[in-house]
This record gives sequence, structure tokens and C-alpha cells, in this order.
Amino acid sequence: MSMTEAISLDGQIALVTGASSGIGAATAQALAEAGADVLVNYHSDEEGAKATLAAIQAAGRRGIVARGDVSREDDVRRLFDLCEGELGEVDIVVSNAGIQIDRAFTDMELADWQKVIDINLTGAFLVAREAVRRFEEKGMRPELSRALGKIVFNSSVHERIPWAGRANYAASKGGVSLLMRSLAQEVGRRKIRVNSVAPGAIATAINEEEREEGAEEIRSLIPYGRIGEPEDIARVIAWLVSDAADYVHGHSLFADGGMALYPGFIDNG
Ligand code: NAD
Repeated sequence: MSMTEAISLDGQIALVTGASSGIGAATAQALAEAGADVLVNYHSDEEGAKATLAAIQAAGRRGIVARGDVSREDDVRRLFDLCEGELGEVDIVVSNAGIQIDRAFTDMELADWQKVIDINLTGAFLVAREAVRRFEEKGMRPELSRALGKIVFNSSVHERIPWAGRANYAASKGGVSLLMRSLAQEVGRRKIRVNSVAPGAIATAINEEEREEGAEEIRSLIPYGRIGEPEDIARVIAWLVSDAADYVHGHSLFADGGMALYPGFIDNG
């Protein structure tokens, strides 16, 4: 194979959580375009999930949609069972589902804290734990990939950048950062590759209000000067799970137009 040949995921099976919209939907499509069959997990937006499935099929791949809450252990197990039953044993898992509930710190109810931690952090744990268990049951498929399995967490620049008014979200993503690195350390010897993508501001439903109120303000935080699109992140994830990135392990890849570069210092601070 040429070192710069296009990314190929031919014949691999992928599971993407929260794939009815935004980055998850674009990722499911990108993985299918690279040759994978994809389970599209959704929480409540069945129509969105079906649109993602249509994009997978348009790329000539198989897919299924599956309802499930990533913060529920039984739901997560069922997603993997469905994937195995309908598509085959899973090679690639993208833990993407996530939410924001923004509150000033003293107004933050325990429920606002707990829900974000449950979905963003505990959900990532449950999905990754099930992924590792299933990878180990399936065994290597060297004709498809050099790794036994690949996991990518969708983290955020806020795994590093503090975020006032969103302590629950930033804490959840900071947690994902150490979850990812600890897991990478633990399972690397077993040929399971684990990484994160850390997006900056990407135009999706999660930040629609913020963009309506102050797109210019957001842009001022991005040295590269544009708000990202879901496809910007989907391409990165497709590369991370491919053998082109086989030596990338335990890494959080910031795809943020430079948002993590202390943009306040652009004009001498
Ligand atoms: P989005 O709202 O379009 O997508 C979030 C997805 O998660 C939705 O499909 C939603 O249905 C799903 N989801 C929510 N709760 C769930 C649950 N309990 N079980 C299963 N699925 C559930 O927004 P997005 O921007 O595409 O968000 C995807 C991920 O990207 C999130 O983890 C988010 O934190 C992360 N992220 C987004 C940005 C951004 O600027 N958009 C930046 C950094 C990180």
C-alpha cells in the first residue's frame, strides 16, 4: 500500500453514538464513505437517524439505526448485540453522544450537573468498556486492520480550556481526557487503539443559540477565522480510526482552528 493512499475502512464494522445529528451524523457518513458498515445510534430523533442511514446507503454501505441511551448500561449492551446480530462484530467505536446544560455555577442544580456527567462521561465509560469487551471476544482480523479495535471519544477543546457557566460540561470533558489516556495505557498491549478528537466551535444543534447570539464573538476566538463544520471533525475521526493513524495512540487531536492557542494574545494580549 502506498503511504499516502486514501483512507480505507473497507469491510469494517463501526458503531457511532449520537449519530442522528451534527458531528455523529457526519462521522457515520464519513466512515461509510471510507468503506465501513455503520450502526447509527440515536436517543430521540429517529428521523435524523434515518437520514444518516440514507447517507450510509448512498455511499454503498450497510447500516442500521438503533435507539439507546448511552448512560444506561443495558441500552449500551443492547446496541452492541444489535450491531453484532445485524452487521457483524464491531471494529470501530465512536463515543460521540454528548449534551450541554449551561448554568451559572450557583444556579446549577444537582440534576444539571448529574445529567451532563451521566451522558458525557459515564456514557463514554459504558460505551468504551463494552467496546473493549467485544473487541477481545472477536479476535484480530489482520486482513482488515492492524489493530484489534479502535475507539475514538468525541471530547472537546474544553477538556483543556475552562468554560465559565458550563462547569458540568468542562468537568465531563476533562474526565473524558483522562478516561481516554488511562484506557489507552491499559489496553494498548492488546492492540486496541484509543484516541480522542477535541473539536473547537462546530456549527451544530448543541450551540445553535450561542451562534445566533454571537457568531462574531465566537469567530474572534478562532485564529483560523471560521467556525467549523461537522465534516471537519468527521474527516479527522475517519483518519484516526484508519490504519493510516496506526501509531497514534492515547492522543487527543485538537481540531479547532487554533482555538486552544490563547487567541486573546493575538494582538499582544
Ligand atoms: P448534537 O446535539 O447535534 O449531537 C449530540 C448527539 O448526542 C445528538 O444526536 C443527541 O441525540 C445525542 N445524545 C444526547 N443524549 C444522548 C444519550 N443519552 N444517548 C445517546 N445519544 C444521545 O451536537 P454535536 O455538536 O454534534 O455534539 C456531538 C459531540 O461533539 C458531543 O459530545 C459534544 O460535546 C461534542 N463537541 C461539540 C462541539 C461543537 O462545537 N458542536 C465542540 C466540541 C465537542
